[in-house]
Amino acid sequence: DQTRRPIMAGNWKMNLNHFEAILLVQKLAAGLTEQQLADVEVAVLPPFTDLRSVQTAVDGDKLHLVYGAQDLSPHAGGAYTGDISGAMLAKLGCTYVVVGHSERREYHHEDDALVNAKIKAAFAAGLTPIFCVGEGLPVREESGQVAHCTAQLDAGLDGLKPEQIKQIVVAYEPVWAIGTGKTATPEDAQEVCGALRARIAERHGKEVADAVRIQYGGSVKAANIASIMAQPDVDGALVGGASLDAEQFASIARFR
Ligand code: PEP
Repeated sequence: DQTRRPIMAGNWKMNLNHFEAILLVQKLAAGLTEQQLADVEVAVLPPFTDLRSVQTAVDGDKLHLVYGAQDLSPHAGGAYTGDISGAMLAKLGCTYVVVGHSERREYHHEDDALVNAKIKAAFAAGLTPIFCVGEGLPVREESGQVAHCTAQLDAGLDGLKPEQIKQIVVAYEPVWAIGTGKTATPEDAQEVCGALRARIAERHGKEVADAVRIQYGGSVKAANIASIMAQPDVDGALVGGASLDAEQFASIARFR
């Protein structure tokens, strides 16, 4: 849809120290023109320990990139050893925060209720959540992907205001496609992204649904981004491995 600005977000996961982060951000910005960065929103999502350095690089060189974190605490502050609050991330200039990534759901046992609480904490701090949903292989094998993902969507959006839902970025990431080199077909991506938008329309109205940006994620590369972006309900990509290579991620951002 031409009215929604595409968003390409690079999830670095637990990679790159703060020196390497600066180099990657500078190289990425150098690979894109002002016009390309105006047409497509390009975001990097580094580890927490890189955020201050990324902020310095982006502000210092006035780079037209935005950035965010990969997780946040559902709490505003206090005795939560090892956790990071939304306010801390906002203070570092973060625009986005990933919530509900399948690696957090799996390795940290994050359930839908916690994901919902984190989405609310993100909004309370002025951050925009990149809210991930996606089915594992057993669900896909039983063709349960739409039911599974719409249930995760409903749970994550529970209790949010329409203006918040409009602002949110939803990322459809089939778990079997993450880091596996096995990309969903453009039709598979459209099936679920379309169903997610239809679900938002049904529950929150068409105006809200038309505004929400929905990304596909799972082994996105320069070579497969164009056909995925050609789908009507795919507004961008959440990119893991390929976002660690500045040239490849820049070419993903220039998908047209
Ligand atoms: C991700 O971690 O969000 C992801 C999509 O990873 P990859 O692109 O490496 O599959």
